[in-house]
Amino acid sequence: MDSRFRGNDIKKREYCNNYHLIFCYSKVTDLCYLMSMDGHKVTPDVSKESRNRLDLLMPVQYLKGVGPARARAFADLGVNTVADLLEYYPRDWNFAPGPIKIDQMQPEQTVTIIGLLESTDYQSYRRQPIFEAVISDDTGVCRIIWFHGGYLRDQLKPGQVIMASGKAGLYKHQLQMTNPKFLVLDESSSGPDEYFSGGVYPACSKLSSRQIKKIIGRVRDAVDELVPEFYDKEFRARANLVGRKEAFAWIHLPPDEEKLAKAKRRLKYDELFLMQLGLALRRASRKHYSAAVPMTCNDEIDSRIRKRFPFLLTEDQNGAIAEIAADMAKPEPMNRLLQGDVGSGKTVVALYAALTAVANKTQAAIMAPTEILAAQHFLSIERYLKNSKVRRILITGGLTGKKRTELLEQIKQGAMDIVVGTVALLQEDIEFQKLGLVVIDEQHKFGVEQRAQLRKQATPHCLVMTATPIPRTLAMTAFGDLDVSIIRHSPPGRGTVITRWVEKHNRQKAFQFIRERLKAKKQAYFVYPRITALEENEDIKAATDEWKNLSTKVFPEFSVELLHGRMPSAKKQQIMGEFRKGKIDVLVSTVVIEVGMDVPNATIMVIEGADRFGLAQLHQLRGRIGRGEAKSYCFLFAETDSEIAKGRLDIMTRSNDGFEIAEHDLRLRGPGELFSTRQHGLPDLKIANIVDDYELLIMARKNAFELVRSDPMLNMPEHKNIRKALVTKFGDSLGLADVA
Ligand code: ADP
Ligand code: MG
Repeated sequence: MDSRFRGNDIKKREYCNNYHLIFCYSKVTDLCYLMSMDGHKVTPDVSKESRNRLDLLMPVQYLKGVGPARARAFADLGVNTVADLLEYYPRDWNFAPGPIKIDQMQPEQTVTIIGLLESTDYQSYRRQPIFEAVISDDTGVCRIIWFHGGYLRDQLKPGQVIMASGKAGLYKHQLQMTNPKFLVLDESSSGPDEYFSGGVYPACSKLSSRQIKKIIGRVRDAVDELVPEFYDKEFRARANLVGRKEAFAWIHLPPDEEKLAKAKRRLKYDELFLMQLGLALRRASRKHYSAAVPMTCNDEIDSRIRKRFPFLLTEDQNGAIAEIAADMAKPEPMNRLLQGDVGSGKTVVALYAALTAVANKTQAAIMAPTEILAAQHFLSIERYLKNSKVRRILITGGLTGKKRTELLEQIKQGAMDIVVGTVALLQEDIEFQKLGLVVIDEQHKFGVEQRAQLRKQATPHCLVMTATPIPRTLAMTAFGDLDVSIIRHSPPGRGTVITRWVEKHNRQKAFQFIRERLKAKKQAYFVYPRITALEENEDIKAATDEWKNLSTKVFPEFSVELLHGRMPSAKKQQIMGEFRKGKIDVLVSTVVIEVGMDVPNATIMVIEGADRFGLAQLHQLRGRIGRGEAKSYCFLFAETDSEIAKGRLDIMTRSNDGFEIAEHDLRLRGPGELFSTRQHGLPDLKIANIVDDYELLIMARKNAFELVRSDPMLNMPEHKNIRKALVTKFGDSLGLADVA
């Protein structure tokens, strides 16, 4: 290994999946270089011929016009290879017509002309100073003026050849141009089309859009040899997609708007298609490589389980159960996401699945994000399983010492059928004798890592429940490798929830209304953004302070209690128990009540500082009321000037449908970091947008999943290019790289 390339020289390391090489930069030699995974420097082939032979994986440094310094600047923009450069899409485009002769100019037309600069004149004495130039070509002369053009005195000199692009006008019956864009042409100038039209690139202080454009221009000229086609002609015609080569050429230098639109469509489609292929392959490989216990759920088992529920299951619950049972009957692990609003009856479905696992002589684990929620689940399970032989247990953090050891031993011996606990507890040190099913209730938090971890385990069937309605677009991307069941309609007999946005001047009226309800023996939640106040920001109301205020001044005649996450677990349990029994009228809390409270008699909720909560969270919170048959009321206390916050409050007052709210949320905020594709182990989207490009997403998903069905490892020769592109994007995480 060359002594100049010591580890501490390396300032920037970029992982180049494709070659299993690390892209390094040495401070000492000011050179970028490649290093293999075992630490050996790979001497790049920088001979003249190879530099001229472009390759998608070639580091940009070896391109003409890019040296080590620019390569570093490019690296800061996320561009390391020629492939990255091609996908460094413009953020905007200009369309300038090609140059015409001066005698062809027409007033009111936008034109580009090239001519010799005959004379210049700066008229500073005018009220609006102007810089005037006269240019000529072999057909005529044209006057050009720039208002406030004093700065041009240094740039424009008679004798130069300039190109000007702008709108032609008439001045005293003579053609002239006002404030055109211009370029002094010299030998190094690129062609006119390159200058006035084409992409405008996201730039940085070390690389201007124009420099980037010039460099990309060189790569673009080589698209014919660089960019392989993915699809056959027939499919492209059917799907209305232009060629991949054209798409790359046009996106960087579109001949016209129509071709730009076609280029975008093709590149977006490809991006979404590769993403969906990745998801399809991931799912397929999970099914191929891990085995699960196939479970039967015959009529006898089914009716035995149903007898446990004191109500008929809803159509949606039955639908979800049918899908789950079909999954569990297979010898490959289920990976299903069960979505449904709070109170829609997911727990019942989960218990059905758990009892199916137990009937098949295996164990089931139910994991919740918090202890409160775990306790809540256990409580409802207890209710349904009264007098049942099914052995179940709640594992809590409070469980320690000998008792804990004993219980863990029982689980290990298979003496427990259903184990409920938090995700953390259940993943810690618990061993099962035969774990057949894992249910993860993520409530509104998406535990991406937890899911990943369970995948490693792979053997049990896995059901993930979430109360956050996930818009279809996200279900197909971020969660695109899971099967999805949806409970859209809640069980009958739910009272409606009326939501009002209350501003300061209406507060007293709201309090008066609440007082009347409390007198009628209804209960209320008051939710605050914080437990205690921040000194520097007294505007944000805090639960602790407001609890004092509410209990002594506003509702002294009622029992008002405080509940928050920093309280000891036992105290929390006690207060929740009392609230459930109706001994407490008003529960003052933070978002902790979001999870795990099911008190049908609580029909009022006040959310203070509602503008500070996101839509999903507001909707979750509101789900705590409207659980009984009585009408419920949700008051959003908020003062705000923010349009987004107003939009959110507005939607909340108009809609109770979680999916509708989620779609709005996605529109208001955009896909955002919460659902960033990278977080879910998918490559970033550079041109497509899952909200705006929904149609393409659907088409890409359908085609990708079909392709994997017909050629699970993409081994067919006609899929070679697609496979190569996939490996470039996903690295070897799909298990394709080593076979490639
Ligand atoms: P989730 O887990 O989706 O929040 P749960 O399963 O806890 O919802 O159900 C909420 C409430 O609705 C519970 O009190 C439950 O007993 C009741 N419930 C569930 N399914 C039905 C049904 N089919 N008919 C009537 N009530 C139901
Ligand atoms: Mg529930």
